[in-house]
Amino acid sequence: MSSSNQPASSPSFVFGPVPSRRLGRSLGIDLVPMKTCTYNCIYCQLGRTTHPTLERKPYIPEEPVIRQLETKLATLSSAPDFITFSGSGEPTLNSRIGDFIAEVNRLTTVPVAVLTNGSLLHHEAVREALQAADVVIPSLDAAHPSLFQLINRPHHSLSFSHVLQGLKKFRNEYAGEIWLEVMLCRGFNDDEQHVEKLRSEIEKIAPNRVHLNTVVRPPAEEFAFPLTREQMEKAVQILGGNAEILPPECPSPAAKVHGPIDREVLLLLQRRPCSLEDLSRAFGVPEKDMAAALRKLRDKGAVAYNVYNRTVFYKAGQKIGNNLSPGR
Ligand code: SF4
Repeated sequence: MSSSNQPASSPSFVFGPVPSRRLGRSLGIDLVPMKTCTYNCIYCQLGRTTHPTLERKPYIPEEPVIRQLETKLATLSSAPDFITFSGSGEPTLNSRIGDFIAEVNRLTTVPVAVLTNGSLLHHEAVREALQAADVVIPSLDAAHPSLFQLINRPHHSLSFSHVLQGLKKFRNEYAGEIWLEVMLCRGFNDDEQHVEKLRSEIEKIAPNRVHLNTVVRPPAEEFAFPLTREQMEKAVQILGGNAEILPPECPSPAAKVHGPIDREVLLLLQRRPCSLEDLSRAFGVPEKDMAAALRKLRDKGAVAYNVYNRTVFYKAGQKIGNNLSPGR
């Protein structure tokens, strides 16, 4: 675990609403500690995986999550567009994800989305647990095992054929929406032949939508490069059908934040590096005010930054835990 991503002393499992390019205003629920995943993707915006595992277990207590969600829903001026299981790693590693989805559905009519790498869908229990979600967003970046190893760097016991089988089985059993994400990294999985092979695998999975993405935030590895707009357009043409390029920005209006925004900014930066522009838009705060808030947080060590693609990205700093008031 990189020290900049240490969990806060009083963990907050609910964060946002954050602007999402796919989901509008998305209220996030984080079911695993930073950074617990079955993969270690070269492009991961959370950095390298510090807890690679295939072990499904509860990971976090249920009661505070539900309490935080109830409080958050009660204080928002308008309902979020989605409640999304995502955050610090792979949410289906949490063996109680089905119970959490059921609890969210009991509390609210806001639709539920699950952002997953799809690697555990070959387990019947995982496929069953996701049945009550409205949208499941799995990923598939490679059409053959060697590229899978290069890009996703999976847990050593995870086989590519199991991942593909899991995605296909889930499609057969799940009546909700599947929006498949394909992350393209220049020089790895973007050549024409490979994208054609991806298309044929995707046809077998039959997702409702295919979202093409590329590296837009600082990646775990500096050799994970983005595609140009032109290269993305070429890839989307090859994929055809229901494939589309994810827009660079979230179309939804900013979230209304009650009280000081520092805490909300830090909760977001724990899970996603953001530019000044991202943060300003996410919280509906003028850039000069957000810059002043970030300067103060940086001076306290709660926020750090790095430059990627000629843009400054802010992320959680080493002393973030000292600057988060107790979880609600
Ligand atoms: S991008 Fe997602 S699947 Fe890949 S390592 Fe990061 S959290 Fe895990």
